Amino acid sequence: MVLSPSAPAAIAPSHTENRVTPTKVQWRGLIEEYRSFLPVSDATPIVTLREGNTPLIPTPSLAQQIGRGVKVYVKYDGLNPTGSFKDRGMTLAISKAKEAGDKAVICASTGNTSASASAYARRAGINAYVIVPDGYVALGKLAQALLYGAEVIAIDGNFDDCLKIVRQMSDEYPVTLVNSLNPYRLQGQKTGAFEIVDDLGEAPDWLCIPVGNAGNITAYWMGFCEYQQQGYSNRLPHMMGFQAAGAAPIIQGSPVKSPETVATAIRVGNPASWEKAIAAQEASQGQFNPVTDDEILEAYRLLASHEGVFCEPASAASVAGLLKVKDQVPDNATVVCVLTGHGLKDPDAAIKHSHNAIHTGVGSDLAEVAKVMGF
Ligand SMILES: *Cc1c(COP(=O)(O)O)cnc(C)c1O
Repeated sequence: MVLSPSAPAAIAPSHTENRVTPTKVQWRGLIEEYRSFLPVSDATPIVTLREGNTPLIPTPSLAQQIGRGVKVYVKYDGLNPTGSFKDRGMTLAISKAKEAGDKAVICASTGNTSASASAYARRAGINAYVIVPDGYVALGKLAQALLYGAEVIAIDGNFDDCLKIVRQMSDEYPVTLVNSLNPYRLQGQKTGAFEIVDDLGEAPDWLCIPVGNAGNITAYWMGFCEYQQQGYSNRLPHMMGFQAAGAAPIIQGSPVKSPETVATAIRVGNPASWEKAIAAQEASQGQFNPVTDDEILEAYRLLASHEGVFCEPASAASVAGLLKVKDQVPDNATVVCVLTGHGLKDPDAAIKHSHNAIHTGVGSDLAEVAKVMGF
């Protein structure tokens, strides 16, 4: 067949033209992307900041420390819109609160829940009240809650005291609880497991995760199980939960009255999802192990200085834990460590615990600067 010379030629896209159609499909947020797995309907107003779709980053230095063909990745959930995995649960909890016509939400928080609840609630036009332990919330998290427009109430007590108050408050007053006791939180958070399987094409052998109030380990396990049941993976990971040694009630087998750790996000003495977390560990033939603050900080520095990944101290508990029990990792296994929050949440911790220091007292002079540089 011969084309007539007057037939219009196919027009190649030109960067000089105004684009009328997007050249890539944007991620729509985890509710839309995983809608069939979540308890939403056409009547649910979706409150989203396009959370989820966080990167699974290979960490060759960590893999090298273990050797034996083991592959290690970090799930960098600090890249969610408010800087922590809490956004996965909050998009759903706040969408359901809006659907129900709720006017106010409340949470107890070590910081990240308050940042996330504030952002999503205010976006939905709902008031947010956050109860935090005075003096134990990282600077970045407080800054967020304030600027998003939440009412921030700092009490003289720890996270467990805060949680007790908000549970009672939501029973007796017209405010909706958005801690992980709210079942929609865990439903949203389970999508972290979906994304890992989508990226790897299979579930990992090990999932290493920090444990505070124990909601996230519960949610991840739920996600892996649902995905396997639907045929998206053949196997299930061993769930490896890590608590800070000074806040390790699940490992001790009893609540800790005065939990202490540099990892403020997991400074929890009486986890709400305690039983569910144990069930996940048992069903997956996983383990709970403690990691000391020194081990957490070592992993925190290593992630930043060797892998270029800046997480907050609590998140580094997953990597500290992996390194602690590395001899138990099977040969050639695939391991994923969940990095729950962004490093910029806690700039004080970074400056205080870095082994690096600023060169000060240097004159504004080329030769002087070169000398400090070692030239
Ligand atoms: C909330 C949080 C945790 C702990 O998650 P739980 O679900 O309470 O076990 C760990 N790391 C960070 C950064 C958090 O914000």
